[in-house]
Amino acid sequence: MINLITGGAGFIGGHLADYLLGQGQEVIVLDDLSTGSFDNIAPLVGRKGFTYYVGRVEDEALLERALSACDRVYHLAAAVGVRLIIDDPVRTIETNINAAQAVFGQAVKFGKPVLVASSSEVYGKSEDLPFSETDDVVYGPTSRARWSYAYSKAIDEFLLISYARTKGLQGVVARLFNTVGPRQTALYGMVIPRFVEQAMSGGPITVYGSGEKERCFAHVLDVAPALVRLMDCRRAYGQVVNVGNDDIISIEALAERVRSLVNPDAEITHISYEEAYGAGFEDLGSRQPDLSRLRELIGYAPAHSLDDIIRDVESHTRTSGTTGHTVHDGAPGN
Ligand code: UDP
Repeated sequence: MINLITGGAGFIGGHLADYLLGQGQEVIVLDDLSTGSFDNIAPLVGRKGFTYYVGRVEDEALLERALSACDRVYHLAAAVGVRLIIDDPVRTIETNINAAQAVFGQAVKFGKPVLVASSSEVYGKSEDLPFSETDDVVYGPTSRARWSYAYSKAIDEFLLISYARTKGLQGVVARLFNTVGPRQTALYGMVIPRFVEQAMSGGPITVYGSGEKERCFAHVLDVAPALVRLMDCRRAYGQVVNVGNDDIISIEALAERVRSLVNPDAEITHISYEEAYGAGFEDLGSRQPDLSRLRELIGYAPAHSLDDIIRDVESHTRTSGTTGHTVHDGAPGN
């Protein structure tokens, strides 16, 4: 089986490529290295069955070359991070929508199945936990750039479902919740790599707001195989499926957990959202996936706990050094 992974030099894409190669499958990565990093695929270069192209998904000829050579497509290429979205909303919207359109169009032409990575951001400001795939969603106004990410991901989902209904595309939407693990950069503000690096460098660990907001964190080593099993599951085609972990924890409790595992001497401080993200930023409420559909489709049972995630991020950071970027108050948002 030959797998094309767009965005394969990203954090999740790199782990997915690694997992597939480990299963004896072949992998072609297509990535423009904008938010992805060569470091994520460097260990794979030279491995049997691994090929990569540096370029954009919107480059029609390149996409056609890669897509016609594969059996299935994992479309993971997307704009990452709320800071980028606020700074460059045009790029977010265009990258997310144009790339999906290009991939789905060619996947229909060549008859290749697609898994597209979406995001729990699609649930917007909903407060009705846990979030189910058929729930209503609530978004902020279009005058706030941060919502362009949720809207553009929702359009990707509409596109896949519509291509499936009307053009015969075989494909599934994986709505990813917080996914964490080794090699995730703290550069885009993701909370666990930030907290671990902060604790390792003596603190303080910076909790935004009161720390009451809750999240569920999945280990990327659970998520990557789940994506492959979803792709293998024909019953999933045409559907949206939540992917993640459903153990819920407040950000304050997370900070305490990181402190107790990584550095009991680190201080925990609270800083306002305004200080962290700038005036007018709207943080989201708590988030937890309803995983019934995922369990029913692939019998999903995550093997890694939150403590495993924290320990793995810590040991990776220790062996590779930090991301090389100072993690301080007001650093880039997620
Ligand atoms: N967060 C925090 N301190 C940080 C980075 C993030 O308190 O240094 C909070 C953030 O405001 C959010 C939660 O941690 O409520 C999860 O943030 P992340 O960016 O990892 O993911 P997302 O908000 O996309 O779920």
